[in-house]
Amino acid sequence: MSVRRFKITEEGSVGMRFGRLKVQQLERVIGHPLRAVCQCDCGKLVIVFWRNLKTGNTRSCGCWRTKRAPARGTVAEFCAKHRISRSTYYNWRRRAEAVP
Ligand SMILES: [Zn+2]
Repeated sequence: MSVRRFKITEEGSVGMRFGRLKVQQLERVIGHPLRAVCQCDCGKLVIVFWRNLKTGNTRSCGCWRTKRAPARGTVAEFCAKHRISRSTYYNWRRRAEAVP
């Protein structure tokens, strides 16, 4: 028997980590896509579609995105601090993950 290391099976995903989410259990509801109950690093429990986990579409409960998208004031502060325009800021942000 060969070990299929790179294949993520549905059952085998329990306990696995996808980004900030750790799979707790799978939820099978007849007539619906398979869903996974996950715990995020921030402590929140979320139910996400298994397929989104597997394809990488879902990587957190949403807190990650919230963290990366600063409030308007924060962008302004960042631009002021680095003396850049808002469009430069968004250019930077497209290229690098480093900016807030
Ligand atoms: Zn979270």
